[in-house]
Amino acid sequence: MENNVIIIGGGAAGLSAALYLARAGLEPLVLAGSPPGGQLMLTTEVENFPGQKSILGGELIEIMRAQATSFGAKIIDENVKSVKSINSFKSVELASGTVYQSKAVIIATGAKALWLGLESETRLRGKGVSACATCDGFFFKNKIVAVLGGGDSALEEALTLTKFASKVYLIHRRLEFKASKIMQKRAQENPKIEIILDAQVQEILGKFKVEGIKLLNDKYKEIKLDGVFVAIGHRPDTDLFKGLVELDEKGYVLTTATYALQQLNSNSSKNQKFNIKWSTQTSVEGIFGAGDCVDHIYKQASTAAGMGVQASLDAERWIESQIG
Ligand code: NDP
Repeated sequence: MENNVIIIGGGAAGLSAALYLARAGLEPLVLAGSPPGGQLMLTTEVENFPGQKSILGGELIEIMRAQATSFGAKIIDENVKSVKSINSFKSVELASGTVYQSKAVIIATGAKALWLGLESETRLRGKGVSACATCDGFFFKNKIVAVLGGGDSALEEALTLTKFASKVYLIHRRLEFKASKIMQKRAQENPKIEIILDAQVQEILGKFKVEGIKLLNDKYKEIKLDGVFVAIGHRPDTDLFKGLVELDEKGYVLTTATYALQQLNSNSSKNQKFNIKWSTQTSVEGIFGAGDCVDHIYKQASTAAGMGVQASLDAERWIESQIG
């Protein structure tokens, strides 16, 4: 059966796209994966999604699903095995073997935060262990926290946390940061940040909530603290799309907007005229990208939702353009 639009991914981006397409009467099919819901399912309280004073991540996803289906979206909680673009239609095969076809596809498979892999880290996630300072920093007002990692994300997270916490330990496993010089300078100059280099995290301490951290380091063995922010990178869930659409070197889906940004950043083609008619379109016509699998900068539920809406409008207008 041919659908108008298949949305791959059932997180904030995919469900927002589904809501808009369903209201437009396009009866989108959401292949939400198993388990569905994306990163919001791993967070506890969400206080920065517009319109929601405080809500659990899982509840927010439930509301989004119910809202999209109430307008006619269909959601299947199964994983996708392969996606093909064949002439004017797209073909999507589920792990179970069922094949769906559509005019357009929206890729909204998200990204996963990378974790150290410690048992204590998994157990205390949402109880003081987090991977997002913008989301959870507010809960650490006047508390002591640590940020783990040495890239730009870690330093940015540490600087964000200085707005809330009384002290921020920035802990990196090497003697040198990977982050840009300017970020390093900002972190070094911030009086609330104490940098600990050449330190491996052995364990996050605490039974029911984070109480400290155990390190393999010459000077610091154990530090008492209230929160640990793991900022060692993200991995977009895009293996499925290798060879189908263009990805950047880290595996993020390139869209017109992110490609243009990359070109502008590289400084080599400042005068290039971009075709920004469909800003969320990937390198394949009729395939659009939205949310954290595209965006490694903002990574918020609300920005993912916004991009999902953009992709839905692009997909709708693109389908119309194919008829006329
Ligand atoms: P990166 O891959 O750049 O850095 C990850 C860091 O985590 C590295 O320092 C790495 O250590 C460390 N790390 C990885 N695995 C482990 C582990 N198991 N234990 C301890 N430490 C570990 O990821 P980021 O998320 O920081 O950045 C991703 C991209 O986004 C980069 O290109 C970055 O420049 C960009 N970015 C830009 C920002 C900006 O311009 N404002 C803000 C945020 C990100 P090691 O150094 O030993 O490899």
